[in-house]
Amino acid sequence: MKRIYLRLAGLLVLVGLSSTASAFLFTDTYTKTKYPTVLVHGLMGFDDIAGIEYFYRIPWEISRSGGKVYTVEVPQANSSEIRGEALLLQVKQILAATGAKKVNLVGHSHGGPTIRYVAAVRPDLVASVTSVGGANGSADLADVIYGVTSNVPVTDVLVDKVASALGSLIGLLSGTDYQQDGAAALYALSAGAAEFNAKYPQGIPAQYCGNGAEVVNGVRYYSWSGGSQLTNAADISDPLLAITSLFYTGKNDGLISSCKSRLGKVIRDDYHMNHVDEINHVFGLVDIFGGNPVAVYRQQANRLKNAGL
Ligand code: CA
Repeated sequence: MKRIYLRLAGLLVLVGLSSTASAFLFTDTYTKTKYPTVLVHGLMGFDDIAGIEYFYRIPWEISRSGGKVYTVEVPQANSSEIRGEALLLQVKQILAATGAKKVNLVGHSHGGPTIRYVAAVRPDLVASVTSVGGANGSADLADVIYGVTSNVPVTDVLVDKVASALGSLIGLLSGTDYQQDGAAALYALSAGAAEFNAKYPQGIPAQYCGNGAEVVNGVRYYSWSGGSQLTNAADISDPLLAITSLFYTGKNDGLISSCKSRLGKVIRDDYHMNHVDEINHVFGLVDIFGGNPVAVYRQQANRLKNAGL
């Protein structure tokens, strides 16, 4: 009997050792970047509402292979600078909490200029900027709305009120109470984009639709974007983006022109994704064969890891 116990004990030790060894050998570190990643939402975005993430399942997909991910919330509707200041505050908190020296910033849509602002004013705190479907120039649809409403004062006020109220509602649902400014948001995404780029030109291509500088002030700049609208027949957002794309000439993701999304090293500006696919919505309804955003976020984390960031 004693011998059986001994054999059992020996077996358990072996099992324990082999599982430790396999954990050591096969731990997935594909997305284990040196610095934590901070995800920043676009206009009317949020971190999560009732457990539903803006970057749908992306934090988990990065963290399951070793990456440390934070999703923050900034004012839903406001200027790039005001959103950027709110982000900067949270970046400092993340650095204090983690002991990390820098962060990798990833911003979708209006999150693009938002992260660019932080990288421009505090490059010492930022390892990289990754713009996803970024509003790095004006959004053509916003140009149209701004053009129409700024000529008709009543509609101007109406857009401001509606956008601010919607921003406040989303903030309320997701647990923040930022000051909203719908007019400032519309301006930032239309006529104000050129002003912003002149003030914070880091990574912006010198020529339309070109490539930008890959490293500025020690910060690496990257961008990627979709260039399609109808990608998944089951997704209700696809027809809406097909309609908004009518306001655009040239390749676009339904809300952002591919050429205007370009920043720093352009990974691709024509994935088979629309503006909503770029955040893996609605609920993962994307074209997983033509443009799976999950894979692209993971590849980018791996690229940052390999760059020592
Ligand atoms: Ca979709």
